[in-house]
Amino acid sequence: MTSPLFIGHEIYRGSSYGRWHPLRVPRVSTVMDLSRALGWLPKGQFVTSPRAKPEALVNWHTADYIGALQRVEADQIATAQDLARHDIGSVTNPVFPEIFRRPATAAGGSILAGELLCEGGVVYNPAGGTHHGMPNRANGFCYLNDPVLAMLSLRQFGVRRIAFVDIDAHHPDGVEVGFGGDPDCLMISVHEARLWPRSGPVENDGGGNALNVAVPRGFNDSEMAFVRDALILPRVQAFMPDAIVLLCGADAVEEDPLSHLQLSNNAHWDVLRRLMNMAPRLLVLGGGGYNPWSVGRLWTGVWGILNGHDLPATLPTQAQGVLRALRFDGNRRGKNPPEHWFTTLQDDPRQGDVRDEVKEAVRQLLKRPVL
Ligand SMILES: [Zn+2]
Repeated sequence: MTSPLFIGHEIYRGSSYGRWHPLRVPRVSTVMDLSRALGWLPKGQFVTSPRAKPEALVNWHTADYIGALQRVEADQIATAQDLARHDIGSVTNPVFPEIFRRPATAAGGSILAGELLCEGGVVYNPAGGTHHGMPNRANGFCYLNDPVLAMLSLRQFGVRRIAFVDIDAHHPDGVEVGFGGDPDCLMISVHEARLWPRSGPVENDGGGNALNVAVPRGFNDSEMAFVRDALILPRVQAFMPDAIVLLCGADAVEEDPLSHLQLSNNAHWDVLRRLMNMAPRLLVLGGGGYNPWSVGRLWTGVWGILNGHDLPATLPTQAQGVLRALRFDGNRRGKNPPEHWFTTLQDDPRQGDVRDEVKEAVRQLLKRPVL
């Protein structure tokens, strides 16, 4: 098997959705800098992300919408019609300098991943994971939907059965629009119940192929391990996927400002470790994550694990420098960050009771027929 490939780009460095937007913080650039500081990102494993062309994006998005994104980027202003038709220029989905180029680069990486995985292997596109994007509109900070485009790309390269596993704190409503009802796509999502977009209760089966594990606030590492071993792993295994797409949103960890779960980054990594060898192709995407330290540490750990590296107990000086240089202005968590956010990748585990609500959700979902 060839070495895992990391798809990245410098466009993410310094790009911001605006001063008060959750996506004002650096994310992918931190992962690149940390991985390089650790010696984990040799040139041969780094792929510069191409920017997807409009012709590729209209494979799922409407031409009208893609044209609007390009025009808004050029003019740096959204019209009332852009807002009404495409939700471009809202508080959630603001106009910003790279409003077309940045999402088109993340999407280009995910589309390329479909091609790179044709013969098998592992690809990591941490800028990907924009799972809320809709065909004709922006949604939840997502202008495009790169997971959908990645899976369509896999299909174009002959990959049929795809298991999509999403452990971001939010329900992947856009992906469900794209692949709901597709019997060759198993969609499993673990997300906070009743959190925006509120669309993934346990009862919602996405047209027959979705397992929505809506979990209560305070969801802990033990509960994630339970969901993983009782539901995720057996269902993925039984599905016998040709490819796994894992969306590894970092907003489900305790320090994230947008959700109310209590996971440590070990929970995500342990899901990754167990899924890693269950299919001949693995695409790992980023997703949400709005605390710059949580995101940088979790996603760098993902890359280390994909490469079989031991995660150092204490980071070398240069890597600590990357973390010490981060700022989280406008959030209390940025005022006095704990020392371990600078010196380690790994959090202390956050174990606890497996609550009845979690057991009941899994019990309900296990009644569904195996795909
Ligand atoms: Zn999220």
